[in-house]
Amino acid sequence: MRTDPLRPDDPVLADRAAGWRGAYVHIPFCRRVCPYCDFAVVAGRDDLRDRYVEAVVAEIAMAEPFGPLQAVAFGGGTPSRLGASGLGRILEALANRFGLVGGSEVSLEANPEDWTPALAGGLVAAGFTRLSLGAQSFDPVVLGDLGRLHRPADIGRAVGEARRAGFERINLDLILGSPAESDASWDRTLAAALDCGVDHLSTYALTVERGTALSRAIRAGAPGPDPDVQADRYERALAAAAGAGLVRYETSNHAVPGAACAYNLLTWGGGEYEAFGTAAHGHRDGVRYWNVRRIDRYLERVEAGRRPESGREVIVGADRERERLVLGLRRAAGVIAGSGGRALLASPDGRRLVEAGVLAARGDRLVVARPLLGDEAARAVLALPLPDC
Ligand code: SF4
Repeated sequence: MRTDPLRPDDPVLADRAAGWRGAYVHIPFCRRVCPYCDFAVVAGRDDLRDRYVEAVVAEIAMAEPFGPLQAVAFGGGTPSRLGASGLGRILEALANRFGLVGGSEVSLEANPEDWTPALAGGLVAAGFTRLSLGAQSFDPVVLGDLGRLHRPADIGRAVGEARRAGFERINLDLILGSPAESDASWDRTLAAALDCGVDHLSTYALTVERGTALSRAIRAGAPGPDPDVQADRYERALAAAAGAGLVRYETSNHAVPGAACAYNLLTWGGGEYEAFGTAAHGHRDGVRYWNVRRIDRYLERVEAGRRPESGREVIVGADRERERLVLGLRRAAGVIAGSGGRALLASPDGRRLVEAGVLAARGDRLVVARPLLGDEAARAVLALPLPDC
């Protein structure tokens, strides 16, 4: 069992995670595509699931030596659509190839309507320890507007079944600020989510991505999300989570002590992780790489014995320092200032952000003190002229 005696926002935990190694596995299958979603997903292709599992196992076998792994995350798409046997087979391949650190965290995303006691039991038996449920809202009108297939009652049922099966950590993902949502509805959603007995809450604003059904509907005259309303709902989420004893440790993530997501800590800390599956992004040896997005191309390549990587970027010098700052400033623990942080504090943008109370120097660290305005700090970092050493 993974236990962190540290608070989720403790700088010691944030810095420790930078040395962890992890793996991400992308599972693209969904029952149908939600109108706001621009992830790499496929709907109506469940016939490819067995081939996909075998391809991911083959891709893992092609990987260079790495690990052992502290954190494994299955994201998507809807990973639970592979069932416990498919996910367990991939996890076994990862464990055999790289090894798992004792107490490592193995996390998957799932949708409430797919969750069953048998699935929960099978996943725990296979080694999964953390569940992240795509709850999004407890308001049936909002769920309908978001194109979700579950009912509010499915969420609490799924959490209970996961707990009874033995999942150690459970997160609910919520979406704030959709046009169908009111202040009262959002408050009820927060209260219901915190009442479920989860130890982690992620609250993300609805965004309108190009090429989605939502963006087409808005262009045709449907209402879109209002940034001011979303800012207010974000503040309400901060207050509700804190009131329930959850600690904000990243812009949109809250957890009780010991329940911070290990894979998220690793990625925000600049740790290394291998990536498998369609569109999966990895980070290793100073290189960021990504796989082909289309499932047919992915299967063709792997089944032909070739790695499915479609691009890579070497992150060195000033780019590496900027990335360290941008990722690290998302965390409540902030980031060790270093050369880039000192340059930021000395820059006109940096001074303006400090005066506005957005940025603050705390000992040798730099933190974002007003998380709602964290994007301004990130923009200032990206515009920072740094020597490319
Ligand atoms: S369930 Fe999640 S990944 Fe699948 S289409 Fe909906 S938002 Fe996208």
